Amino acid sequence: MEKTLVIVGASYAGAQLAASAREFGFGGNIVLLGDEPDAPYHRPPLSKGFLTGTYAEDRLPLRSQAFFKDERIEWMPSTRATYIDRARQEIELHNGARIAYDHLALTTGARVRKLDCPGATHEAVHYLRDLRDARHLARAAQTARRAVVIGGGYIGLEAAASLRQQGVSVTVIETESRLLARVASRWLSEYILYAHTDRGVAFEFGRKVVGVRPSNGGVAVELDDGSRLPADLIVVGIGVIPNTELASDSGLTVAGGIAVDAFARTSDPLIFAAGDCASFVPHWAPEGAACRIESVQNANDMAKTAASAIVGRMEPYGALPWFWSDQYNIKLQMAGVNAGFTEFVVRGSVEDHKFSLFYFREKKLIAVDSINRPQDHMLARKLLTCGAQPTLAQVGDPTFDLKSFETPPANQLAQGVA
Ligand SMILES: Cc1cc2nc3c(=O)[nH]c(=O)nc-3n(C[C@H](O)[C@H](O)[C@H](O)COP(=O)(O)OP(=O)(O)OC[C@H]3O[C@@H](n4cnc5c(N)ncnc54)[C@H](O)[C@@H]3O)c2cc1C
Repeated sequence: MEKTLVIVGASYAGAQLAASAREFGFGGNIVLLGDEPDAPYHRPPLSKGFLTGTYAEDRLPLRSQAFFKDERIEWMPSTRATYIDRARQEIELHNGARIAYDHLALTTGARVRKLDCPGATHEAVHYLRDLRDARHLARAAQTARRAVVIGGGYIGLEAAASLRQQGVSVTVIETESRLLARVASRWLSEYILYAHTDRGVAFEFGRKVVGVRPSNGGVAVELDDGSRLPADLIVVGIGVIPNTELASDSGLTVAGGIAVDAFARTSDPLIFAAGDCASFVPHWAPEGAACRIESVQNANDMAKTAASAIVGRMEPYGALPWFWSDQYNIKLQMAGVNAGFTEFVVRGSVEDHKFSLFYFREKKLIAVDSINRPQDHMLARKLLTCGAQPTLAQVGDPTFDLKSFETPPANQLAQGVA
């Protein structure tokens, strides 16, 4: 009998896992369950071009309808998985139907963290996770004059930039003392802050929202110092919560996310997890602590690892993390993880807004953030993947050609010299 792979969650990780399983030779049935009505689509444009009106909705689908048909992937829209019966190897759906599986993959992603204060459910309060949210927000942005963005992370800052580009006056509220505090170096935070203030965005740091109050026929966001910011649009970007309930309800190990090993296997060897919902010990973490990564790269690459294991090709997850964000005319691209860096070197021109920050830990290159230098980003991904070790002086020398490290001779890699 043909084997069945059931995948729960039809977004990046789910669609990639289905495609890769086929590509790697899985010949059985593939069922892709998604609780959204729309075919898997690109999420990053939702806070960027889709919100400014420069990225049309018909460009959003990740794969064509023909792809699912040709690859014999049964995509079931508006279908929610509600329970995993591990003893019977069946998954139960919202309508009570059951599907038997030989392999199961959980690619359930994450949902937004909601604002928790009086007035939080007011209709002026918006979130940004899925296409429905984005359509709703884009419509509201057309008539908005004053927006308050709660959260100075990527989603909040991209929304702030998109709104500002449409002439909306924007104030961003951040509880930390700087932007992108969880993911960016202090130097990069300062640069991004400058980019926004230069375009007229106001900031409130170290403040918490305590309420959304009626004000002059509209609303105002009340802060913990008693101040009130009138707004006709409020965008909340205060992080996400991984969708782990299916896993925990069926007794799978959950630790900050659905816990998986290097092959994307959960605590049940027939069940895999990938993407925003999965937590794992990354190969690059010096402390060996488990983490979740919220990025397109991670969703796609981890899905490939899971698909590979499903067809019996055990290849541990070892992809380099990378990420991007577009704000105004700034293309920020990050390669590697700069946590624990001890030095950094700037390459390029900050004045021209074209530069890269090369981060080193104990003289070892660990990450590169690039602003409008896509060629640096692509090179950085190659250097970090092959473990090349330019020195701080070489990186800081604009005449030194870092491409010479792309295919370093073995002895050069071993000695860490050019
Ligand atoms: C506005 C926005 C901008 C972003 N910008 C960037 C960017 O610039 N660069 C970048 O790298 N990343 C960006 N991201 C993050 C990136 O989109 C996510 O990391 C990525 O979508 C994760 O993919 P995933 O498949 O793991 O999960 P998700 O995309 O969250 O998809 C999970 C899917 O599973 C469905 N689901 C959940 N539970 C069930 C169930 N029980 N039954 C059926 N279906 C279920 C969900 O509804 C959802 O459709 C952005 C995200 C957002 C929201």
